[in-house]
Amino acid sequence: MTATMEEISTGTDHERVFFCRDPEARYRGVIAIHSTAAGPAAGGTRYWTYVTEEEAVTDALRLSRGMTYKNAMAGLPLGGGKSVILRDRKETDREALLRAHGRFIERLGGIYMTGEDVGTTLADMQIIRQETKHVAGLFGDPSPFTARGVARAMRAAALHRWGSDNLTGRTVAIQGCGNVGFQLAQELQAAGARLIVTDVDPQRVSRTVEAAAAKAVPPEAIYDAEADIFAPCALGGILNADTIPRLRAEIVAGAANNQLLEEADGERLQARGILYAPDYVANAGGVIVLAGREVLGWSDEAVMERVEGIYGTMLEVLRLAEEQGAPPHVAADRLAERRLAALVDASSTG
Ligand code: NAD
Repeated sequence: MTATMEEISTGTDHERVFFCRDPEARYRGVIAIHSTAAGPAAGGTRYWTYVTEEEAVTDALRLSRGMTYKNAMAGLPLGGGKSVILRDRKETDREALLRAHGRFIERLGGIYMTGEDVGTTLADMQIIRQETKHVAGLFGDPSPFTARGVARAMRAAALHRWGSDNLTGRTVAIQGCGNVGFQLAQELQAAGARLIVTDVDPQRVSRTVEAAAAKAVPPEAIYDAEADIFAPCALGGILNADTIPRLRAEIVAGAANNQLLEEADGERLQARGILYAPDYVANAGGVIVLAGREVLGWSDEAVMERVEGIYGTMLEVLRLAEEQGAPPHVAADRLAERRLAALVDASSTG
């Protein structure tokens, strides 16, 4: 049985979408290229259990569009793409699966470039690298840069809301003490903030309590925490009709992807007077360092300058939102579209 790569039409604004199969490797995957207008489509590989193939396609479509916006907002000359590998309930040979994925990426000749995402690891990227060079994220953990960018986003939101970006004496509630949350906690403590933290993993809580003099609360209690800022650094979809009414914070700024469960949650936050720092603006530090170092050949200084620049981008988003009377997540998309158009202009004239 041979491997097949079928281009499918989705009726969306995606440039190209492929459903890929390699029966020998028990592989089924989707590669969605939303846009290559600004450069090669970049976005990670998700390894996830989907109930149906349609669900996997829908996820790849949504995630790849998100990457176009995220990359454009970060000023990266890259388009947006994403791939998903459908996790089989039966035992699979992970290496065979990843190598099959790498071969499909290679067949695209560089219009799509991958990296780590939910369910995949650095070691997985090294396996994919054996089949294609169009893979980033081989040289280290991007999370310190993500944490740094989130802290910058938080300060920008503080300046917008309180007229000062000084976090001394402010209380920040962090949901998730993983790679990003742990480092964010330490950075904020050094900046004089008080911390309330939670995680479903008690060990991660205790190392954060120790390192950042944080107070721990049970996972469900984080939404009710008496804090000035809420920082979601665990899961997506946690800002929703159930949790938003419970928040005491005036600002939400964190690393998690897709924090709003649905669009209406952006309006719900606005209606409660809570300033939302859009997730893909705040958490771009990771993609900036991966793409900057491994794809665009930037120096460490250039990478850091862009990560620090999240501050200015967030301020611009929040000012635009205020001017337009729009929720920040809507203003962010409008600014990303403008930045994308500018990147496309620059690449066509340059
Ligand atoms: P991680 O897996 O290291 O940390 C996530 C933590 O959340 C884990 O410690 C986990 O135990 C905890 N958690 C899970 N469910 C929870 C719950 N219900 N309540 C409290 N804690 C819970 O991941 P990470 O690399 O720190 O990333 C955190 C988030 O930021 C993720 O959503 C990720 O997609 C996003 N993100 C990360 C990066 C990066 O560079 N690592 C970049 C962009 C976005």
